This record gives sequence, C-alpha cells and structure tokens, in this order.
Amino acid sequence: MARELRIGIIGGGPGGLALAQGLKKAGLHPVVFEKKRARSDYVQGFRLRVRERGLAALRALLPAALFQAVLDTAGRAPSESRRFDESFWPLDGRRGPDPAADDTLIELSLSRITLRQVLLTGLDDIVVYGSAFSHYTENSDGSVTAHFDNCEPATFDVLVGADGVNSRLRVQLLPTAKIIDTGARRFAGKVTFAEAERAGLARVLQDYNVHIEPSGGRTLMVTSHRVDPAKFAAHGLIGRNDPTHAGLAGRHFDNTASYVWWNIAFWRDEIAGDATLEALDGRGLLDLLLRHNADWHPELLKLIEITDPSTVAALKVRSSVQVPPWPTRRVTLLGDAIHSMTYFRALGANSAIYDAGLLAPALARVAAGASLIETLATYEAAMIAHGFAAVTVSLAAMQRALGAREIAA
Ligand SMILES: Cc1cc2nc3c(=O)[nH]c(=O)nc-3n(C[C@H](O)[C@H](O)[C@H](O)COP(=O)(O)OP(=O)(O)OC[C@H]3O[C@@H](n4cnc5c(N)ncnc54)[C@H](O)[C@@H]3O)c2cc1C
Repeated sequence: MARELRIGIIGGGPGGLALAQGLKKAGLHPVVFEKKRARSDYVQGFRLRVRERGLAALRALLPAALFQAVLDTAGRAPSESRRFDESFWPLDGRRGPDPAADDTLIELSLSRITLRQVLLTGLDDIVVYGSAFSHYTENSDGSVTAHFDNCEPATFDVLVGADGVNSRLRVQLLPTAKIIDTGARRFAGKVTFAEAERAGLARVLQDYNVHIEPSGGRTLMVTSHRVDPAKFAAHGLIGRNDPTHAGLAGRHFDNTASYVWWNIAFWRDEIAGDATLEALDGRGLLDLLLRHNADWHPELLKLIEITDPSTVAALKVRSSVQVPPWPTRRVTLLGDAIHSMTYFRALGANSAIYDAGLLAPALARVAAGASLIETLATYEAAMIAHGFAAVTVSLAAMQRALGAREIAA
C-alpha cells in the first residue's frame, strides 16, 4: 500500500502544472503554490511550439480526456515555408534541412493560455494561488518546510522548484548557478487575420512560414496560429478567453482570434540601446523597426505597420549556464528554474514538461517504497543531461541566427 508522500511544488507554469497532473494521475496529492492567479506576462499571449518530447510527456501525464483537449484545441500553423529577401524577391523556395534538427517531426502550435487552462483542469484543490514562495528550511526529521511572503509555511517530504527563470528555490539551493543575458534582443508582434484581410496583406505572409532574409540584415520570421473556437466548445472553458485576463488593455490576450505573428532578433545596441527600448511602448517599437528596415518592400513594412501595438515588446534573451551536479537533497528543480534557455529551437517549455514526465513516475515509485534520495538523484542526472543539452542547442541556434559573438558569463 502506497504511503502518503507529501509533495510541494513551487510554481504553476507548464512544468509545475504538468507535474501536478502526472502526480494526481498516479494517485498522489501534491500541492502547487503559485504566486499569481492571472498569468499575464508578455509571452503568455503567444503560442508555444510543443514538440515530440513535450507531447509524449503530456500524453503520459494527463488523463486521456485532457490530452485529447490539447490535441483538439491546438492551433493550426502553416506546414510549408517560403524565403524572400527584403525586396520581397523569392529566394530559392524552401529552407534547407536544419543542421541541428532533433525532434522536429511532430509539433503542435499550442496557445499558452489554452495549455494553462488544460493543465489547471481538475486541480482546483491542488493549486494555492497568491502564495509567493520565499525560502525553505530543512528539518531534523528530514522534511522540508516551504515559507512564503504572504501565507503560512507548509511542510513536505519533497519540495520541487518549478518557479521559472528567477527561481528563488534555485537561488537558495544552488547559489552559484548563473543566468546570463545573451545580448540578443527579440521583438515580436501579432496581426489578427481579420486585420490582415482588411489591410490586404499578401497571402503568402498569411499562409506560409515565411523567412525574410535581407542581405546583411536580420531575418524576420512570420508564421500564424489559426484557432477553431467551435472545437473549444466541446471542452468547456478550454480554449476560450481566460477570465483572469478580462480588463487587460489591448487584444494581446484574445485567445479566440486567429493571427499572423512575426519575430526578429538583434544584438544589444544594434537597433537601439536598452534604455531606449525600455522607454518605448508597442507603437514606439513598431516605429523603430519601420525606421530600421525603411528600405524593405512596402508589403513587408505593411505587416509591421498593421501589427497590434498591444502585442509588441522587446525581450532580453537570457540563458542558464550548466551547473555541475550537486548532492541530492529533498529539494529539487525542474524546467526554467534550473535550465532556462533562449527561445531559439523552442525547447524551454518542452524541456520543463519533459522533466515533469521524468519526475512524476519517479515520485510515484518513492510513494511505493523506493528510496527518495536515490530516486531523486537518478531524476536529477537525467534532467540535467537533457535540460542542459537543450540549453546548448538553443544557444548555438541563436548564434547561428545572429552570428557568433562571445557571450559574457
Ligand atoms: C519569447 C519566448 C518564446 C518561447 N517559445 C517557446 C516555444 O515555442 N516552445 C517552448 O517549448 N518553449 C518556449 N519558450 C520557453 C518557455 O516559455 C519556458 O521554457 C517555459 O515557460 C518554462 O516553464 P516552467 O514551468 O519551467 O516555468 P515558467 O513558465 O516560468 O513558470 C513558473 C511559474 O512559477 C511562478 N512563480 C515564480 N516565482 C514564484 C514564487 N516565488 N512563488 C510562487 N510561484 C512562483 C510563476 O508565476 C509561474 O507561473 C519561449 C520563451 C520565450 C521567452
């Protein structure tokens, strides 16, 4: 008979929630502490590319009906690519094979909002919102107590830090672990299909993955995410607008509209200094890009011109640095909390969910009698190996895209 294993999870992002789902499916009763009820950080308004490793883990972690909801509510992204120069002149049709291709065969375009709704389904009595973790203490009986800024402490047999790139749990457990600013600055924005149609935007920019590759400039990537609200209906709230986003300005968190979106990255100071970028709002950033690319074909500039300013921001691209293995304790980590990476190659959330797919069955084995420390040590070895391999791959992809540059650690 399984003994009750007290499991605390700090952070209700894709990694922490996928872990909670997997533990629940295994008959365990974790508690997730999430500091925010509404997830309204900028990237939450976009889709995630979820690939084989993430999908396989989700299939294992979720009840069948919820995994079906993931599949049914996935957005449709174009399957074919086209390349053009800045004069909108076709380059040789398709992009060549990716030299670093890994699990690119299967992937879905998942709205982050919808995925969160799916992952929260059935977790009402598991997620404690508004609880901001501050630190942990290790007790003489081996248990671990989590402390919060704004609620009572709670004691567990194992505590998992799934609290993202600024993880407080990591800072305490691994104080020398580093997060670096890679020096890349990434801009992105969305145009609803309705607006694209109204403006008569070229069909190719709506129907294909398009790479605009200017001679001597930065590549603008354009793709789209088409949703079918009718499919959401079968799954209740899932896929609709999230009530926690009501009242937020602009259409960025509109989860029911299909959209074309683009992104482009520069090195720091290449287009403007950080102080300038930070002072500009969405419209100001669009105007900056229009000025910077003023010699581009008008149809390409139109895409930037008609972009909804509420969907535009400049992000500093950060990455973690490989940490040597550490002595395993009853406190562990997953996802961005330990191996955050650049967005190039779209592996961050996939890796976080993959970690959850390793950790949930591991903890179920502990509940069935396996040694906690030995089992966590095996998990951590596998998690570090695949997580930091993804960090390396994504950093190399960024340097291929922007040109190699030494990155200060
Ligand atoms: C521009 C961009 C594009 C990306 N595109 C992709 C993509 O297409 N595919 C992909 O796989 N990945 C992508 N990623 C990476 C992906 O967003 C992350 O890797 C993923 O969100 C990590 O999930 P996580 O659960 O580990 O952490 P997070 O998503 O960061 O979740 C952490 C959670 O912990 C909570 N939290 C933080 N601190 C505390 C605290 N003290 N107490 C309580 N709760 C706390 C936060 O509120 C949050 O809900 C992209 C990233 C960026 C920046």
